[in-house]
Amino acid sequence: METTTLHDLSFDQLRDELASAGMSRSHGLPFFKALHQELETAPERRRDFSPPVQRWLDSGQAPPIHLPEVVDEVASDDGFTRKYLLRLADGAEVEAVLIGFDGRFTACLSTQVGCAMGCVFCATGHMGFKRQLTVGEIVTQAHHLEREVRQRHGQSLRNLVMMGMGEPLHNFEATVGALEILSDTRGLSIGPKHMTISTVGHIPGIQKLARYPKPFNLAVSLHGASDEERGALIPVNRRWPLADLLDACREYSEVKRQRVFIAWTLIGGVNDDADQARRLASLLEGMSVHVNLIPLNPTDDFDGEAPEPARVAAFQEILKSAGLPSTVRQRRGIDVAAGCGQLRSR
Ligand code: SAH
Ligand code: SF4
Repeated sequence: METTTLHDLSFDQLRDELASAGMSRSHGLPFFKALHQELETAPERRRDFSPPVQRWLDSGQAPPIHLPEVVDEVASDDGFTRKYLLRLADGAEVEAVLIGFDGRFTACLSTQVGCAMGCVFCATGHMGFKRQLTVGEIVTQAHHLEREVRQRHGQSLRNLVMMGMGEPLHNFEATVGALEILSDTRGLSIGPKHMTISTVGHIPGIQKLARYPKPFNLAVSLHGASDEERGALIPVNRRWPLADLLDACREYSEVKRQRVFIAWTLIGGVNDDADQARRLASLLEGMSVHVNLIPLNPTDDFDGEAPEPARVAAFQEILKSAGLPSTVRQRRGIDVAAGCGQLRSR
């Protein structure tokens, strides 16, 4: 069984932990704040906790802290993106990316080591699935990026996107558990409306998230307007076909009264023509959605290219004339391989 670390614990779980060590639950608040607001990494060295907490820390009975070790760090040429390669306690490596634009900082976090979904254009997919990340391993990625934003820019993270390595809904409990902790107002207090869970189209996960009482944004990776075309890029489309997936998206936006983001990675000559754009528009007709168009980022194992900018614009124009709002994702961090789908431990 995995060791429980301090960063795995929600506020209530931390208080339970203190109670089971014979302390009053009231010690939980200052301790949680120290961990999650002050980002304290060595609480045992402090001398301002109450004596029972101090003794508990000194005794070595408290759960440990496992901080990821930064083994590599690269900034993009434009300075907007910094990518960190983080080594976890067992030696596994994941990447976390800080994206800063217009003075607002977004953390892009990983949820798994590798990914089981095998999308053909994705570098993480080519790694295969290694293991799930724990709550603490997701929380400490965000803490690392928050520390960076504070030190470098005197600011705080504003948005979180679960778009790093892995399929977040294939690691539902840890992903949502981490987001709960990161949204806690006694901690980093990032609002759930500033958090986006991106999924390959994991239908049971979408249905579960629809019933989960937090207004997380949902982004669904579509990339193909028929089962045949989508299935050629995303193997799990066989398990979770397009019609059922769109039903799940409709359910999500109805239950949550939120629009769903649709991600469409544009691959030159594959899914970037006018016909696909029209069929995409008709698939999404009447739905409360916003389309994010992402020109393909190059990866070693996939022989595809981003379309010319004019083709991207033409694709977007068709969506627009069908009344579908869309945004072309800025290509950031490409030079350091920190763009979507390029995250891969070396
Ligand atoms: N597993 C989740 C989240 C991580 S991938 C998902 O698939 O949605 C985040 C986004 O990057 C997805 O929309 C994915 O389709 C996209 N992506 C993957 N590889 C890419 C590449 N090479 N170029 C552009 N986008 C890519
Ligand atoms: Fe996994 Fe997402 Fe990459 Fe597909 S695109 S392999 S689901 S990380």
